[in-house]
Amino acid sequence: MTDFECSHTWAEAQDAADPLRAFRDEFHIPPHDGRDALYFCGNSLGLQPKGVAAALQAELDDWSNLAVEAHFRGRSPWMHYHEYVRDTMAEVVGAMPHEVVAMNSLGVNLHLMMVSFYRPTAERPAILMEAGAFPTDRYALESQVRFHGFDPARDLIELHPDGPGGTLSMQAIEQAIAEHGHRVALILLPGIQYRTGQVFDLARIVSLGHAAGCAVGFDLAHAVGNLPLTLHDDGPDFAVWCTYKYLNAGPGAVAGAFVHERHARADVPRFAGWWGHDKTTRFQMGPTFVPTPGADGWQLSNPPIMALAPLRASLDVFHRAGMTALSSKSRRLTAYLDWLIRSRLDDVLDIVTPNDPAQRAAQLSIRVRAGRDAGRALFEHLERHGVIGDWREPDVIRLSPTPLYNRYADCFGAVEIIEAWRRSVTA
Ligand SMILES: *Cc1c(COP(=O)(O)O)cnc(C)c1O
Repeated sequence: MTDFECSHTWAEAQDAADPLRAFRDEFHIPPHDGRDALYFCGNSLGLQPKGVAAALQAELDDWSNLAVEAHFRGRSPWMHYHEYVRDTMAEVVGAMPHEVVAMNSLGVNLHLMMVSFYRPTAERPAILMEAGAFPTDRYALESQVRFHGFDPARDLIELHPDGPGGTLSMQAIEQAIAEHGHRVALILLPGIQYRTGQVFDLARIVSLGHAAGCAVGFDLAHAVGNLPLTLHDDGPDFAVWCTYKYLNAGPGAVAGAFVHERHARADVPRFAGWWGHDKTTRFQMGPTFVPTPGADGWQLSNPPIMALAPLRASLDVFHRAGMTALSSKSRRLTAYLDWLIRSRLDDVLDIVTPNDPAQRAAQLSIRVRAGRDAGRALFEHLERHGVIGDWREPDVIRLSPTPLYNRYADCFGAVEIIEAWRRSVTA
């Protein structure tokens, strides 16, 4: 049962009563024909927080006025800059502060984490992943298997979707771990599948994987900032994510990595750089690498200040809104879009994303039942009318209402625009 109503008035009343409504004003909403576009693409590139410009300007000013001295005397001394995002990032992923670090980009962090946690042996050479993984993940994993001298045809085990709409059941994951676990060095799965929007049960995957003797890592590109995470308690060995999707830190922004506390002081093999060296002795410039305990010990280089400043401004918004409040709005907002589509457009659209609220977050992946060409036509109609989603081959339109800046009225508006398209093609 829902209290949803298919009307603009109802949607506007929901927005007026939304305790998070003020956050929308903290973002630049792209215009379309003199009005705000209906932006449903936070799953791909989050909108720009208005605080970013001032955050960047402050660092530009310190660079102008202080130059090298800004490392120590800036308003936010650059020396410690990556630490300024640590607490808020830990909050967003449910980790202890020393378990997270902002560094590099997602693909780079995935490789660096595999250097440490994919340690194949002749008896246990394999990686278990999903067949529909994001291409970079597939490329990275396959290249790691080859790099260690193993054969991806045998040692990259891919889980094929067995559920409706290309989803992957927990039973299939359990079965694969039961069958292959003894040969698997690393299980690498996403928190949320990018094409279907399916949410995976991370705690369960970790417990099954560890019971079978495998290391477990997650790619949280679509999960971070989208649903509350509990990485410390779930206990994966590592996780990686980017920050330009739901985290709104800007194109190509600095990514994140999580290394579980149990590895914080362990002698884990890694690729080392001076910024990962013990902070207290880093500037003695000695020849022997002594890692800083925790995730910081995986840093290579001194941090890119201009790239971290937007992340810092963006995480501040998350800190003030709180993942719990964001998630409760997100569930209802996405449920509203789901309900509108099912009740108004059921004859033309299928929703691929699981209907179970525990198995989805913001994103709904939609297929036009008439096929790919009709799907492309709808996608272009949406673009022309200022509804910004994205297209994923072969036939999926992704729409992701995000709780920081999307409104119930956006969902209603998008559905009205889809209804106009249906009238135009059936007329
Ligand atoms: C967005 C995304 C990426 C992108 O990787 P970059 O290194 O940031 O270019 C990788 N993997 C997944 C699952 C993604 O969703």
